[in-house]
Amino acid sequence: MAAKVIDGKALAAKLREEIAAGVAALKAEKDVVPGLAVILVGDNPASISYVTAKERACREAGMLSREIRMSATVSQAELLACIGALNADPSIHGILVQLPLPAGFDEKSVIDAISPEKDVDGFTPTNVGRMMIGERCFLPCTPFGIIKMIESVPFDVNGRHAVVIGRSNIVGKPIAALLSRKSANATVTLCHTGTPDVSRYTKDADLVVVAAGRPGVLTGDMVKPGAVVIDVGVNRVEDSTRERGYRLVGDADFESCAAVAGAITPVPGGVGPMTITMLLWNTLESARLACGVG
Ligand code: NAP
Repeated sequence: MAAKVIDGKALAAKLREEIAAGVAALKAEKDVVPGLAVILVGDNPASISYVTAKERACREAGMLSREIRMSATVSQAELLACIGALNADPSIHGILVQLPLPAGFDEKSVIDAISPEKDVDGFTPTNVGRMMIGERCFLPCTPFGIIKMIESVPFDVNGRHAVVIGRSNIVGKPIAALLSRKSANATVTLCHTGTPDVSRYTKDADLVVVAAGRPGVLTGDMVKPGAVVIDVGVNRVEDSTRERGYRLVGDADFESCAAVAGAITPVPGGVGPMTITMLLWNTLESARLACGVG
């Protein structure tokens, strides 16, 4: 294997120490503890485990974590009223609604109801718009974490060709936008299922971010020697050797890509730990802004 493995766990741990120090400093200076409210509607097991991980991370960083569990039978109006109350609550600096919501909810209007000043997921149209025009905003956590990982390599994207595979609103489109900002200055190609031959672009790419949700979308023969590969995908594949019957893999075929790439993120232990870390980062930032610091 030629590639350096970018250790998302280690980078996340380092950033979480910085965040915890920031939380302690804000408490000492302003007597303010950053507060994150997480709303979970229904009992989707994956959502429960994500929410539990977010709460634990919050508490470990010294932040206030408020979990609001609502039954899947709650009305849209009740959910919106809950968000309204959190918007007005000065002890809460970040509001997150765990997605996906159960069937029947209008997800878009639920996200729209979150105050942009507390939208630490960076999902509201206001924050997306601010990101697009380069204004100060909360960056969506996964793309924000990817930027931190690229910086950690270290790898300067200025003047380089970056290929993003996937155009979702939470990963593909925002990371493409961030990489193409003047401050990053990459030349970005955005591939999707309508791209006839993705390898035509990846073979020329200095950086590939793959967020397709399909194992094996990127293989070593598609990667330019020395390129940086960021694998966002999280896929379950059957594995009878594991007690639980499956293992997690990314979208990139790790072995073949690592043999060619200069650096690559593993799955698990790559982008995943960074996403929650950037949520904490944004919550601290929101609390700092609310008390006029930073
Ligand atoms: P998504 O909403 O399903 O979007 C997938 C995108 O990939 C779509 O734009 C799709 O194209 C494109 N695509 C799918 N197959 C492709 C192929 N063979 N060639 C080219 N493009 C292809 O997924 P997402 O929410 O962005 O998530 C992507 C992956 O990242 C998932 O595995 C998800 O679990 C993971 N994820 C991880 C984290 C983390 O923190 N680690 C966070 C978010 C997501 P079309 O638009 O044409 O359909």
